[in-house]
Amino acid sequence: MATRPATPGRCFIGRLGHGDDLLAAVEAVARENGIAAGTFQCIGALTKAAIGYYHQDRREYETITCAEHMEIVWCGGNISQRDGKPAVHGHIILADATGAAFGGHLLSGNGIFACELFVQELTGVELERAWDETTGLPLWRP
Ligand code: ZN
Repeated sequence: MATRPATPGRCFIGRLGHGDDLLAAVEAVARENGIAAGTFQCIGALTKAAIGYYHQDRREYETITCAEHMEIVWCGGNISQRDGKPAVHGHIILADATGAAFGGHLLSGNGIFACELFVQELTGVELERAWDETTGLPLWRP
């Protein structure tokens, strides 16, 4: 385990744009506000969904798409740096018209119907992603 202290910084709250891509919209909030590290959460609804499942044995993401209208029951994750740019890592739980839920890793391709976002900046900490040989994922440097 490799943890480090961080200090809460600025908070941001707002509505993301109808028709925007969820992952790109959260990345834009981080970039436009100079957020180098932080956490986020959001709720709302999507017009289409794209989530990932990481096959640990094959070391690759499978993309699961859904063209139905979905509720965002919960979406959250973190903001760090990768190659000097904000990198958003999010996971999302969605529910369909029957209330059945499923979820996964947040990918590009999630069309926002409506979305309310909260971001908590973290200061005094450097979170840089780098390739991790053990998992095949871009994880935080220890
Ligand atoms: Zn993930």
